[in-house]
Amino acid sequence: MSQTLFERICARELPSAIVYEDDKVVAFKDVNPKAPTHILIVPRHPIPRVAEAQPEDQALLGHLLLKAAEVASKAGLSGGYRLVINNGRDGGESVPHLHVHILGGRPLGWPPG
Ligand code: AMP
Repeated sequence: MSQTLFERICARELPSAIVYEDDKVVAFKDVNPKAPTHILIVPRHPIPRVAEAQPEDQALLGHLLLKAAEVASKAGLSGGYRLVINNGRDGGESVPHLHVHILGGRPLGWPPG
């Protein structure tokens, strides 16, 4: 099977501004930022979307969220931030590799559009 866009970023086959990585997750700046700080954090293992995560992914999903909070803190988002996971067509998902958006640096509206 062909690699996802984000697998290729994780493998450094495509250029991106990586801000954090370990053996399980990689965080990099979104190429089309929707806020002053917009970072994506993804598991290296390509789960397509949260709806397809399996019970055996539980520890990885926990690690992903804990590292998202750490990356947000290191990015200086002391005033707060938002974590977003888009799932499927109506959720606005465009890349079929699970990713958490870390958005901050300005007050964020609610509800989302
Ligand atoms: P989603 O719409 O939730 O699937 O989010 C996909 C995100 O990936 C969008 O915010 C895009 O701007 C971002 N994106 C697409 N290609 C790249 C890339 N090569 N490097 C960094 N971010 C990307």
